[in-house]
Amino acid sequence: MELIVIALSIVVIISAVCIIRTFRSRKPISKEVLPLLVVILVPIFANLLIAATDDPMVADYAFLLYFVSTNWVIYFLIRFSAIYCDFPFHRSPLQWFWLAVMTVDSLIVLLNPYFHHVFGLMIREQIGRFDQFYVESHWYHFVHLAISALGYCCIFSMYFSKLRHTSELYREKYLVIIISLIVTSAWQVGCIVFRTGLDRSMVGYGLLGVLIYIFAVEYPPIFLKYQMMQRVLGGITDGIFFFNEKYDCIYYNPKAAALFDLEPEQYTKAYEVVGTFLNPGETVATDYIEKNIEYTLDGELKKYSVEYQKIYDKKKLQAGFYVVIRDHTEEERIRAREHYDATHDALTGLLNRDEFYRLVQEKLTKHPADTYLALGSNIKEFKLVNDIFGHTMGDKVLIKLARIIEGVSKDGDLVARIDNDRFAVFIRKSNFDPEIMAGALSAVDHIGDIQYPLVIHIGINEVKGSTDLAPSVIFDRAFMAITAIKNDNQKRAAYYDDSFRDSLLWEQKLTGSLDQGIQNGEIIPYLQAQVDSDGVMRGAEVLVRWIHPTEGFLPPGKFIGLFEKNGLIAKVDRHMWESACRILKKWKDAGRDDLYLSVNISAKDFYFLDVYAEITGLVAQYELDPKSLRLEITESVMVNDSKRKLDTIEQLRNAGFILEIDDFGSGYSSLNLLKDMPVDILKLDMLFLSRSYDNEEKQKIIIDVMINMASRLGIPVISEGVETLDQVLFLKKLGCEMFQGYYFARPVSLEAFEEQFRIFENTGK
Ligand code: C2E
Ligand code: CA
Ligand code: CA
Repeated sequence: MELIVIALSIVVIISAVCIIRTFRSRKPISKEVLPLLVVILVPIFANLLIAATDDPMVADYAFLLYFVSTNWVIYFLIRFSAIYCDFPFHRSPLQWFWLAVMTVDSLIVLLNPYFHHVFGLMIREQIGRFDQFYVESHWYHFVHLAISALGYCCIFSMYFSKLRHTSELYREKYLVIIISLIVTSAWQVGCIVFRTGLDRSMVGYGLLGVLIYIFAVEYPPIFLKYQMMQRVLGGITDGIFFFNEKYDCIYYNPKAAALFDLEPEQYTKAYEVVGTFLNPGETVATDYIEKNIEYTLDGELKKYSVEYQKIYDKKKLQAGFYVVIRDHTEEERIRAREHYDATHDALTGLLNRDEFYRLVQEKLTKHPADTYLALGSNIKEFKLVNDIFGHTMGDKVLIKLARIIEGVSKDGDLVARIDNDRFAVFIRKSNFDPEIMAGALSAVDHIGDIQYPLVIHIGINEVKGSTDLAPSVIFDRAFMAITAIKNDNQKRAAYYDDSFRDSLLWEQKLTGSLDQGIQNGEIIPYLQAQVDSDGVMRGAEVLVRWIHPTEGFLPPGKFIGLFEKNGLIAKVDRHMWESACRILKKWKDAGRDDLYLSVNISAKDFYFLDVYAEITGLVAQYELDPKSLRLEITESVMVNDSKRKLDTIEQLRNAGFILEIDDFGSGYSSLNLLKDMPVDILKLDMLFLSRSYDNEEKQKIIIDVMINMASRLGIPVISEGVETLDQVLFLKKLGCEMFQGYYFARPVSLEAFEEQFRIFENTGK
């Protein structure tokens, strides 16, 4: 059998397989490939028939079939190519045109048995058996060939156009078909020119069909895939290495090269580099490994994550593995930065409150047996610093202070800025040296170039590691301790203890119950008699007492200090003044307008009350002589903002009130004060005088001088705190004419006082 028949037969068999597979394929393009493959078989069969027959009639019809079927091969080629190259075809002018042309041409060719206008069958004796029959071209054959040629031009133009516009990745799939089309059509032209009986180019058509099947239906686009993979991997931000089953590196992407400073195709080096992270024992045994590594690239420490994954084929045989390397250096840096920002104070770089408390808690939990000190620092009147010097300067001070505190704290101590000007240190008790801390803090004595000694107070709270208290509470207490020394210029540090907290609670309780206390009559005046040198009661000082429903009897020492601190003293005083007026009114109505009462005026009253308006208002309301309500003011009233207060005092005196200077001699500027302060009476406090002098002789001299000076200035003196007859005699000798003290009378309730001094016995006389 001749080769061509074998070749055609093989082509038929292969085509048949392709047809079946195309039939089963679900790709849309299969619908175009299938008719093409089928149609290609027709001229192949026709040729096989021509080869097989001896009968000229059969040969004649076989040629006819061949002529007509090639038309449809070209038609379906056009159809397939249009769709393959993404040109519109179905129901397009292109389709209608070629359908019409091919139909008409086929019909004309089919008339050949009658008119022999296409070809005439020729028989050759000598030439090989398969070329026994051949055709002689008649005029229409050339028309038919021209149509075919036009068809091919159409096809080629589609491929060429596609080739020009498609990505180079896809050229392969068009190029293969166009080349085989060129080869096949050239082959066919050869067959026609050389008038071979059999069209041997049918082998080419068959193969073309197979190629079309492969590229359109099957198309394992290895090249394309490889190209795409390279592009994708090339652009990816991770480094990727591929290794084969022998652990040879076969590929790495540009990023991988950059991560390890590899030149292109340095596969051995790539293996060495990657191999150092993947311990061979581990990689042989495991399918997947993930780890973080550090790598020094150009002197910079990089943080990479490494992912190793084995690859298996369908039969579960190891095909190789790949390694993905991700550069986390920047990410880590950002994360570290973010973590830092979230846990530190932006201004000073110290820990912020939340992080500080977290770390404190951690320490407490870890070392329950240790003893720690919680230190809180506060700058006195820091607001003032901001106001006077501006916030920039304020910030500088805070930064400086932060550095100082940091400087004196040791490794393992925690230092934080809690808020504003409040810093906190958590320190092992054994590490704390108060001297060093105090020394360091006193170093903040200027702001910029300006000498400005800052007062920094420290509150200290000692805690055991085993404490149940939350860090925030521990430090609240440390800061609380500061409130005790806030106004003390000498003390810079104070320890917190439980009594401290108790006193705070106590203060809160009193503060909270003051209004009700006044309303409910719990806060009442006690009266202490003031007597003349004959021992006759002339009046009394009004001294407050609080009969508290839960705390019991409270002398003023228990609450006056607190209320002076928070300003509520004004409420107490206003209440006492009114109480005094009510008593005076009652006495007056009973005919005892000879008696007076002295009330206390606190320095703070001037800030919270219009003292003048209140007092004159009360006196007017109760229709009293201003002389009967004496006013006691301590000399400390004059310390701050003295001009305004002096004016008020002057006004009150002008309104007829008598003004007493209380606790005269207790302040530093007592004598100085006399020259500026308008005053009617001096109250000399024996108690503090006796407290401050160890030498009785000296004390006597000072009292002597004071009373002497007052009498020479024409200012009467009341001696307060007189407890003994000796004192009375001594004071009398010096010229003192009024006395107040336990020797004569203790402060007592109004009823007791009235009873004791038989206030109403002279009534009506
Ligand atoms: P003060 O104004 O100097 O009042 C005199 C204090 O000395 C009174 O204490 C009085 O009981 C006490 N005293 C009088 N004679 C003697 C004595 O012979 N020996 C001793 N050891 N003490 C004597 P009290 O009533 O406890 O008042 C203490 C301070 O509380 C007062 O000192 C005054 O500064 C303040 N205070 C009392 N009541 C009021 C008030 O209504 N308003 C204001 N702002 N302060 C008041
Ligand atoms: Ca007083
Ligand atoms: Ca006094």
